Amino acid sequence: MLPPGGAADVRALRRDGSTITLVKDAPEPTPRPGEALVRPLRFAVSSMDVEIARGLAAYEGVLGQEFVGVVERIEPAGGGADERAASLKGARVVGSPWCACGECHDCRRGLSGHCKHATMLGVRGRDGCFADAFVIPARNLVAVPEQVDDDRAVFAWLLAGAIHTAQQVRIEGKPYITVLGDGRLGLLTAQIMARLNASVRVVGLHEDKLARCEKWRLKHRLVRDVGERADQDIVVDCTGTRDGFELAMRYVRPKGVILMNSRLSHLNAAGAPERPLDLRPIVEHEITVSGSRGGSVAEALGFLRSDVVDVVSLITRRMRLDDGPEAVRAAEQPEQICVLVDP
Ligand SMILES: [Zn+2]
Repeated sequence: MLPPGGAADVRALRRDGSTITLVKDAPEPTPRPGEALVRPLRFAVSSMDVEIARGLAAYEGVLGQEFVGVVERIEPAGGGADERAASLKGARVVGSPWCACGECHDCRRGLSGHCKHATMLGVRGRDGCFADAFVIPARNLVAVPEQVDDDRAVFAWLLAGAIHTAQQVRIEGKPYITVLGDGRLGLLTAQIMARLNASVRVVGLHEDKLARCEKWRLKHRLVRDVGERADQDIVVDCTGTRDGFELAMRYVRPKGVILMNSRLSHLNAAGAPERPLDLRPIVEHEITVSGSRGGSVAEALGFLRSDVVDVVSLITRRMRLDDGPEAVRAAEQPEQICVLVDP
């Protein structure tokens, strides 16, 4: 019920200290000028959510970066951007969780993805989307075309990252590309890479996950069946693990390229051996290592609308917000690829 003069309470999945709890009486967030209040329709659990839940990243607040939702209201900022923002009211939207300041030196020269003052939904300095309502800068939002349903739209941010990675690849001849990792990022990146004029294979640890590649006519191999021949022109490491990166250094040819589109997040994971990462191969084999992060959700929506990428096959489990911390724990299970959550 709506209390007099105030907004209704909302549910929110939070991390406080070392615990994740579903708070049932959080105050509805209030958008600041230029921000939108969004009512989510569906979420996806990201690897960052899992990391934060496991205590591998310092963050306290509401979890969640990936969503599709409906804009309930927008707080005008007073300026030219208000007109576009107002047009989003009532629209079904997706958005980038990365919230750049828009004013600093980096932002002004087109490097907003590297803004030092940025906040990020559910990661840094800003509550995430795993709630009945959340706020986000209106300029981060893009309206979802009618043809793209919620199950597809919710992949926009992840897909944006995969597309951005593929854009870093310079194709000469018909290069051999290995995509390392059979999680949601690996399987999505591989589909995008396969659109390039290249010979692409996916290498992973799970036969059942890799089996999806059949449908996409993508070559796939288990790690244990792949020889370490240092013959790949490009290796895209989507594992985010030390083991994955070391494997990438052994797969790539001399003077080849390793693209990293996930952080080496598990380097200091509890239980991981404390040995230092041996980077000598980078020098000895003159390997280029290139990072990639973020991307354009508008561009991702274009891919989803033209149905050139299969995201639905990546959905392995559906949960509800009321499942609370279990929703994030489900995504940690090795058999899962992508866990979607309904409010
Ligand atoms: Zn900035």
